[in-house]
This record gives sequence, structure tokens and C-alpha cells, in this order.
Amino acid sequence: NLPGKVALITGSTSGIGLSVAKKLASQGVHIGLNGFAKPEEVVAIRKEIENQFKVKTFYHGADLKEAPQVKNMVQETSQALGSVDILVNNAGIQHIETAVNFPEQKFNDIIAINLTAAFLTTKYTLPKMLDQNWGRIINIASVHGLVASVNKCAYVAAKHGIVGLTKATALEVAKTGVTINAVCPGWVMTKLIETQIQLRADQYKISFEEAQVKLLEEKQPSVTPVQTEQLGDLILFLCSNSASQIKGSAYTMDGGWTAQ
Ligand code: NAD
Repeated sequence: NLPGKVALITGSTSGIGLSVAKKLASQGVHIGLNGFAKPEEVVAIRKEIENQFKVKTFYHGADLKEAPQVKNMVQETSQALGSVDILVNNAGIQHIETAVNFPEQKFNDIIAINLTAAFLTTKYTLPKMLDQNWGRIINIASVHGLVASVNKCAYVAAKHGIVGLTKATALEVAKTGVTINAVCPGWVMTKLIETQIQLRADQYKISFEEAQVKLLEEKQPSVTPVQTEQLGDLILFLCSNSASQIKGSAYTMDGGWTAQ
């Protein structure tokens, strides 16, 4: 059911978003990209996806902190590629600090990028999905949408928020062919957590590899990171017709993290 459909994936210039973009493109889905990157990097990503998978791509550099840019991104992507049938709200940032010392602007930015932007893209893409009675919205939350860790108050608040947004919006459209779900990964090896591994390496004066094991051991019982390709496969499944009755769920892929 996917060839010829159009997906908009926020934060798809690296990490999970880029991997999901390639996975959807491999099924013949045209790809709307977004995220920060140098112009030459964007050209390289677009070329790679277009050449390898023979699909169309479009890039919009919206800063998701800015609501008018989010609206413009949805409009321009729809115009360039014909529609937005699949929306993956993936962009996210992290900041680690106690609540007492947490910079107020940073808190607001995390809520804006990790939560409010997903509300806005949902608001702007849903009408067309409802008109055509088919659509998929997948919100990349986190295990931190279900449980907390210390020194991540803004991230945990935003991720719990996006799980709530997922449930509330899924219910609004439950009788239609549009499904809205969240995905809750544990540790996935991307740039976002490299910084956290390096912090531990510096703190304990150990190698990056040793720090990676230490990080995983703290929370993820499998002591194995999730692969971005595995998340891509879960998202492909959620886009399939077999998943048409999965609505408002928060799927974990976390090596056992939230089973504890
Ligand atoms: P990443 O840092 O590799 O990618 C983040 C993407 O978001 C990049 O493309 C970046 O340019 C984009 N981005 C950041 N700020 C933006 C802004 N203001 N406007 C537009 N784009 C912006 O991170 P990742 O690990 O791939 O994370 C992707 C998502 O997965 C995030 O929502 C993150 O919270 C979530 N997640 C990651 C992990 C993990 O272990 N890596 C675990 C659970 C959830």
C-alpha cells in the first residue's frame, strides 16, 4: 500500500530520522526531509535517496522552534510532492541538568521542538489525511515518554507530553483510516547520545567504548543498543494495512528498559 505515497519526516538529516527516511524510500515512498545540515550535506542525502530508491525528495530547513516555519514546511512539502500521507515527528533535542539549574530558554526550546512542533505538524497535515481517509502519524517519543531519568526534566516532560498528544489525537480520528501512534525507543546509537557517552567517559576517565557499556548497563537490560534500521522496520509496520487497528499506542523498542 505504500508505493507513491509521501512521507514528511522531521529531523531527517541524521540519526533515526534519516534511517526512517531511507526505509520508507525503499518501499517507494517519496520523502520530505527536514533538519539542520550544511547545504552540501542536504544535496548528498537527497541524491543518495533519489538514486538508490528512485523516489522524489524535497527538503525544507524549517527551524521547528518557529511555528510559522513549521506551517510553511507542511505547505511547501505538500506542494512539492503532492500531499503528506505519512508524518513522522522525529526531531528532538536533549539537555542534561538539574531542574534547579536548568536554563529556562532551553526548557522552552525542548518543549517547542520535541512537543509543540508535533502538535503543529499534526494540525496542518490531518485535514488532508481525513479527506482521503488514509494517513499515518508516527511520533518518535522515547522510553522517557513512559518513565523518567534524573536531570532530564524538559525532555521527560516533552516526551510524556507527546505520548499524551498521540493518545488524544488518535482518539479524535479513531473512526477514520488515519492512525496515530508513538514509538518509544531505549538507547539508539546516534549523535544525540554520543554526547552523553562522552560525558561519562570524561567523568570516569574511561574510553568511549567502556562508557558506552556503562551507559547501557544503567538502564537497558539487553546491554545492546537499538539499531535505527530496527526502528525503521517498526515504523514500516505501523504504516502497513495490517496495523490499521493500532491506534494511540506507545510501542517500546528498548531492550527491556521499561519492563523493569
Ligand atoms: P539526532 O541528533 O541524530 O537527530 C536529530 C534531528 O533533529 C537532526 O536531523 C537535527 O538536525 C534535527 N533537529 C534538531 N533541532 C531541530 C530544530 N530546531 N528544527 C528542525 N530540526 C531539528 O538524534 P536522534 O537520536 O536520531 O533522535 C531522533 C529522535 O529520537 C528524537 O526525538 C529523540 O528524542 C528520539 N530518541 C532518541 C533516542 C536515542 O537513544 N538516540 C532514544 C529515544 C528517543
